[in-house]
Amino acid sequence: MTARTHDLAALNALAVITLMNAGAATITLSTLLIALLANQIGGITPDVDQPTAPFWRNLPIGGYFGRVIDKMLGGHRFLTHSVLGLVLFGFLSNLLLHFLHPIMHSVDIHLVWLAFMIGMVSHLVMDTLTKEGVPWLLPIPIKFGIPPIKTLRITTGKSRERLLFFIILGLDIWYCASHYNYLVALFHSRIR
Ligand SMILES: [Zn+2]
Repeated sequence: MTARTHDLAALNALAVITLMNAGAATITLSTLLIALLANQIGGITPDVDQPTAPFWRNLPIGGYFGRVIDKMLGGHRFLTHSVLGLVLFGFLSNLLLHFLHPIMHSVDIHLVWLAFMIGMVSHLVMDTLTKEGVPWLLPIPIKFGIPPIKTLRITTGKSRERLLFFIILGLDIWYCASHYNYLVALFHSRIR
């Protein structure tokens, strides 16, 4: 999947889970903003194993680092696209957030961490819909895909992916328009 689809999927996963827990406690505006950022980073993090990933392309000497990281992580769709990778990145991101917490007191780092992980998991779920599949159970070297028949799956960047992207976007626009008052009220009551 392209980074654009991963961004949208990560945001949607976060939104759905947030709406399912809409009765939960209030959060600060800074938590919301940092969580959104963490969610988007999480949504493209598994592709750090791809030298051409936007993550690397946007850095000055990213191409070089991308190739080094690519070798270290075992090539595209390897460690970062598995449960093992989720555990590893979950641990590292948690460490980083605890390290950063002293400079962002008003941010609920647990929620930020959850938003990051939701982004990462959404990435693996979306990649599972593509022809290449995802080696969820590494070191067991089997790539899983949905649906199991490869020809029915999505080719990255091709028409089926674009169709899926616009279906999700369309549903988002419909939901926001039809639940506008509810969403505004939620925003007002849950963010302090
Ligand atoms: Zn990927």
